[in-house]
Amino acid sequence: MTTPSRSGGAQPAARRQSSLRDHNLSVITRTVFGEGGGLSRADVAARTGLTRATVSRLTQELIDARILAERHTQVGRPGRPATPLFPAERTMAGVGIEVNIDYMAGRVLDLAGHTLAQFKEPGDFAASDPAVVLPTLGELAAVMLAEVRASGARVVGAHLAIPGLVDATTGTVLLAPNLGWDRVDAVPLLGSRFEAHGLPIRVSNDAKLQALAAATSSPGHLVPDPTFLYVSGDVGIGSAIIVDGAIEGGQHGWAGELGHVSIEPSGPACHCGSFGCLERYAGKHAVLDAALLPLDSPPEELLRRLAAGDERTHRAVARAGWALGIGISDALNLIDIPKVVLGTGLAPLVPWLLPAIRREFDTRLLAARFIEITLEGAPTDPSPASAGGALLALEKVISHPADWVPAS
Ligand SMILES: [Zn+2]
Repeated sequence: MTTPSRSGGAQPAARRQSSLRDHNLSVITRTVFGEGGGLSRADVAARTGLTRATVSRLTQELIDARILAERHTQVGRPGRPATPLFPAERTMAGVGIEVNIDYMAGRVLDLAGHTLAQFKEPGDFAASDPAVVLPTLGELAAVMLAEVRASGARVVGAHLAIPGLVDATTGTVLLAPNLGWDRVDAVPLLGSRFEAHGLPIRVSNDAKLQALAAATSSPGHLVPDPTFLYVSGDVGIGSAIIVDGAIEGGQHGWAGELGHVSIEPSGPACHCGSFGCLERYAGKHAVLDAALLPLDSPPEELLRRLAAGDERTHRAVARAGWALGIGISDALNLIDIPKVVLGTGLAPLVPWLLPAIRREFDTRLLAARFIEITLEGAPTDPSPASAGGALLALEKVISHPADWVPAS
């Protein structure tokens, strides 16, 4: 939409003008970021239907606000220099921090998708005390934030990723079975040094944020075919339904608890209180345990044994594939999405998981008789939930740039 809507008729003229400007600013940012940069002002005008004068004026406001930048390096048609527009670098930043069962991490990304700072600390946070863990995370995050702020970047917001159910409206971790956390008011526990940065922070489920990272090439710029079921493979198994690059979270944002779908109703007990849950077969510890490897073994050890043809390890991974095949078939029978992305610990195992998963698809997934179900590993990333959190924090600049551009 590039002209005032009919519904604007009841608004005072000044406000109508202002909301039209705000809308057009977001049309421009979505277009430039959606392409990953490289469009000229003329390209933006052609794609959006805005006049070239409007694009030039609003683009300048976005450049002045340090959201867009131009480069004078390309030449368009002969004799007519073009100045392509790109997301500004090192000006604004989003933050993601996370606690997982065996590490905590943080990442700061700028609008161009560059990592400005990050950390990852291994640990054992199974059945941990949030009043001990979260202040430590807050300290590490505060150090990271101070570094980024010293570089001159403006930090716009943060997301805390937790492997469990969260109430995003109150910032409460309702239940994180593997951490052993039950109704934790997480944000105040990050402590005074973090709080001193005055950063708006939201609490999110980690698999959802991992999935956003897998759907995104750079801030505002989606990967090709950004509709898929994402399945994370940490100590727990999480998942997220991603449609056109956005999370389909259900009424409370709790959709995607694939790790607690029952594979065998009388199977091994799960931390969630149920039995035979998927993560008891395909979670990191379940696979290592079945392969008779120590639970703190690095992922490379599993891959080394697979490559060496170790029979016990092959059986453990095939069992995980069998369980994933059942769980994912059930999910795809419900949601009709023909692409699956396996993330974190599952990603490097895809070649070994695939035969068992495909066997279950052939038996259980009705759609598999008619269409090809794509199954691929997510790109390697040491802390994809942190990356997803940073991307989500930046999304508000891209979708509502007017909040960051002084009123004209
Ligand atoms: Zn469970």
